[in-house]
Amino acid sequence: MPSEPVPSHRVAATLSVARVIGEELGRGSLCMNDIAWRMAVIDPDTEGRSFAQRAFEDRGWVVQSFDGGAEAVAACRQKPFDVVLLDLGITDVDGLDVLRDLREACVDTEVIVVTSHVSLDSAIRALELDAYAYIAKPVEISDLVRSVENAQDKIALQRLNSELIEHLCRNQAELERAIEEATRELARANARLQEMAVRDGLTNLYNRRYFDERLGDEVSRSKRYGSRLTLVLLDIDHFKAHNDAYGHLRGDDALITLAQVLQDNVRRNDVVARFGGEEFAILLIEATEDHVATVCERIRSAVEATAFMGHTPSHSVSLTVSLGYASCPTDTSDMAGLIESADEALYAAKASGRNCIRSYAGGRLIDPLVGTDAAG
Ligand code: GH3
Ligand code: MG
Ligand code: MG
Repeated sequence: MPSEPVPSHRVAATLSVARVIGEELGRGSLCMNDIAWRMAVIDPDTEGRSFAQRAFEDRGWVVQSFDGGAEAVAACRQKPFDVVLLDLGITDVDGLDVLRDLREACVDTEVIVVTSHVSLDSAIRALELDAYAYIAKPVEISDLVRSVENAQDKIALQRLNSELIEHLCRNQAELERAIEEATRELARANARLQEMAVRDGLTNLYNRRYFDERLGDEVSRSKRYGSRLTLVLLDIDHFKAHNDAYGHLRGDDALITLAQVLQDNVRRNDVVARFGGEEFAILLIEATEDHVATVCERIRSAVEATAFMGHTPSHSVSLTVSLGYASCPTDTSDMAGLIESADEALYAAKASGRNCIRSYAGGRLIDPLVGTDAAG
């Protein structure tokens, strides 16, 4: 009866390394423990064959014996042996040809030449053909076992090595995928953060900080290219009374609704911002005087026509806005001058009774819809 496999101390050490690494990788033991070691003994001598077969079966190997080379090579092609003991004295084919065929067909099989036909020539050829060892008969069983165990060590290490490489490659690919996904998520989060940093929390319009920066840029561009830039300031009329009548939360709703009305009535590249409180600013880029007046009137009348919520959703109330604007380079040439002039025009609109538009045209405050000097 064959006894339990008894690996050499080095094979045992390799297997325990494989187990530790396998556990570290979270995969249990690597495949090494599952190996059923397989051996072929190719020897024309019946006694030699059964001697080797018994010796290695006693050590836990699965052994198949062959008296010729061709059958052994065919068997190895079908299911490779781990180790082959090859006597060069076989008669059906040249022993060295069998060695070459085995090495070509089963690259992981280690072939140990054990022969009584010893010659320097055949030893050199055998080693050139990558035989694992070349042993002369008669051989001490202990020498043969040592040589087989050395081959076994080599195979075990090679298998461990290729498993580790495969595992590392898989891990590397998973890691790269995870890094790519994290990078994309980070870019999305950054974009969201950047967007949040320039938006007003209540109305989602651009905030004052972004607007000031953008105004500076647009004034410089206007100076450089002589293009027309118009700043419109807009303030809700009697908003305090609206808050007092319907509450601060309704007032917030009104600001949100108004923001949408503004956004709906400008072009995509115009800039709408919450300037502060119930005051808004609009930058109209490269708009003609006529277009500016038209846009302002469109906004004024759209707000006037909007139903804002009063006490309840079914109770609608109206609000109006006053607008004042100035342009550069026609009316002023710098940022502070532009804000001051537009503010003066807004003040004039308030002074003219509210729910109207005034323009700071070359220092004169006029009603742009009729083109006449305005009170204020
Ligand atoms: P005028 O026509 O002269 O502009 O009168 P007004 O009442 O609109 O002006 P005033 O400056 O007296 O009051 C502005 C009001 O706007 C007072 C303030 O509570 C309100 N307000 C400013 N910011 C907010 C806000 O975020 N939410 C609400 N609900 N109200 C706001
Ligand atoms: Mg107001
Ligand atoms: Mg105000």
